[in-house]
Amino acid sequence: MGKRAKEIVDLDVDDLLKELNKALADEWLAYYQYWVGSKVLVGPMRGAVEAELIEHANDELRHADMLAERIITLGGTPILSPDSWYKMNNCEYASPDDPAVPVILDQNIDAERCAIDVYVKIMKMTDGKDPVTWEMAREIMTDEIEHEEDLEALKDDIEVMKSRV
Ligand code: FE
Ligand code: FE
Ligand code: MG
Repeated sequence: MGKRAKEIVDLDVDDLLKELNKALADEWLAYYQYWVGSKVLVGPMRGAVEAELIEHANDELRHADMLAERIITLGGTPILSPDSWYKMNNCEYASPDDPAVPVILDQNIDAERCAIDVYVKIMKMTDGKDPVTWEMAREIMTDEIEHEEDLEALKDDIEVMKSRV
């Protein structure tokens, strides 16, 4: 990071790096939860749900990339080993032991709600203090909001389907 770029970051960078790494742990767990969920999924609207889960998995991976890039720019080190994911995560990993579509949708809706809270927290932490990280968190949060909405819409579709048979 350049000299002036460093000077405009007006907060404790170590605290910020810790939050960014915690979010990175969440993103990798979210990626895997979506990815493996898309593989084992069974039940109503399987094709549509599978496509959505894969799309979201790819978004979470892109979020992980954005976070890692920002961590490095700020002079930190992104989590180097997967065993840290479980130690640093904010959001619980929900294993899709029951692969039924509605259960998987509920698990991922919970994860998205947690993700939204994580980025709200990072936005509050960086508001007026680190505009670059703030903007990144805003961008990711917008995706997480869309993810929650998409999954809720799929649940609604399944409800309509059930009420018409
Ligand atoms: Fe994400
Ligand atoms: Fe998401
Ligand atoms: Mg979507």
